[in-house]
Amino acid sequence: MTADSTVTEPIATTIVADIAIVGGGLAGSLAASVLARAGHRVALVDKRAVHPEEFRVEKIGGRQLEMFRKLGFIDGLASAACRYDRVLNVREGRVVDVSVGQAYGLPYADLVAMARRQLPDPSSLIVDEVTAIDCSDDIQHLALASGRRLEARLVVLATGMAGALGYKLGIKRHVLAERHSVSFGFTIARRDGAPFDFEALTCYGERTADGVDYLSLFPVRAGMRANLFMFRDPTDPVMRELRRDTEATLLRLLPGLRPFLGDFRVTDRVQNWVMDLSVVEGHLRPGVVLIGDAFQTNCPAAGTGVARLLVDVERLCAEHAPRWLATAGMGTEKISQFYSDPDKIAADQQSLKMARFRQALTSRNDIGWDVRRRLHFLRRSLTHRVDQMRPGWLAQVRSALRA
Ligand SMILES: Cc1cc2nc3c(=O)[nH]c(=O)nc-3n(C[C@H](O)[C@H](O)[C@H](O)COP(=O)(O)OP(=O)(O)OC[C@H]3O[C@@H](n4cnc5c(N)ncnc54)[C@H](O)[C@@H]3O)c2cc1C
Repeated sequence: MTADSTVTEPIATTIVADIAIVGGGLAGSLAASVLARAGHRVALVDKRAVHPEEFRVEKIGGRQLEMFRKLGFIDGLASAACRYDRVLNVREGRVVDVSVGQAYGLPYADLVAMARRQLPDPSSLIVDEVTAIDCSDDIQHLALASGRRLEARLVVLATGMAGALGYKLGIKRHVLAERHSVSFGFTIARRDGAPFDFEALTCYGERTADGVDYLSLFPVRAGMRANLFMFRDPTDPVMRELRRDTEATLLRLLPGLRPFLGDFRVTDRVQNWVMDLSVVEGHLRPGVVLIGDAFQTNCPAAGTGVARLLVDVERLCAEHAPRWLATAGMGTEKISQFYSDPDKIAADQQSLKMARFRQALTSRNDIGWDVRRRLHFLRRSLTHRVDQMRPGWLAQVRSALRA
């Protein structure tokens, strides 16, 4: 017997968990933390130890904050992000209104890192790629690129827009609107080094032909972040101009911005993203459930992606999954409860509705939408003026009562 023949193949390690979460973006990392905090054995698998600096959601506010609070992530968010409370909303060089309310700006990678830091045991994060899933009514078997294997009762697919794994399970993406929107992300600063005169600003598009929905400016630690959302053919030459000569192209598309920005420059790489609206089909499988972008993509301009994924995480992790794990089996009768959850369905539908509304409000130029657009901004601006006058009215009423 030669020395070589005595060497046995190393037995690939098998990791055992209650729940295997594939994909550690925002949806997967939040879900893993919520489930692990509740005492479940969780394995969160992602290809990368640190999420790359990809352009995704960069601001959290409004009702999203209530969900972050409910799920126990609000302190983590507040300590990782830049807070702002007032957004000046402008159009055609004039103030439409001012939005008042707590909001936070931060790079997506920092948001994901924050969610992962909330894992009670950091070793729950496995840096690897899931290459195959064998699912059944009982135990799910996952193959990892390293050769390791993972066994779990439930698999949560949170793989974002990457569809390869789902495809192998027979889950397909149905494209509802190809190249629905285009988004740009970059950071700006004033050339004289002075701060901008606003905390945050939203500037709405002026002409339907430009296809500009709005430019959102908000603080992040690196400076003033800009998110530009458009509904326009991604092959249009203006896309290249926006990447190459961002400052001039922006002012050409939004001339009313000039007085608010002064002389400014872009301080980092301009990132852009073309988004298809899509939803999965054939997803009802035993032992596997899809959340976040893995289930449905969202229009960035509508700002509903995070609201949707937070509903997914809350409904799955606080309600359905703990109940499923309490009894034997993981058949489709259990999994279907999540997909038919009224809150989930409402959030998914609202996201698609908002995507279509923003596109129409931005670029439809028929008379009906033209009137609707004018009324939309007129109503906002009148409400704002009445709100501003209100203290004066109250003072008048008070002095009349005193007289
Ligand atoms: C440009 C842009 C701007 C946006 N702006 C907003 C906004 O203003 N407001 C808003 O609410 N939403 C916005 N969104 C939407 C929001 O960012 C997404 O809904 C959200 O990031 C989706 O998170 P996720 O966890 O589902 O997917 P992702 O963050 O994409 O995470 C998927 C993860 O899965 C991992 N993965 C994939 N396959 C495997 C595998 N086989 N094995 C292991 N790991 C794997 C990847 O590495 C990745 O980490 C925006 C999106 C874009 C593209």
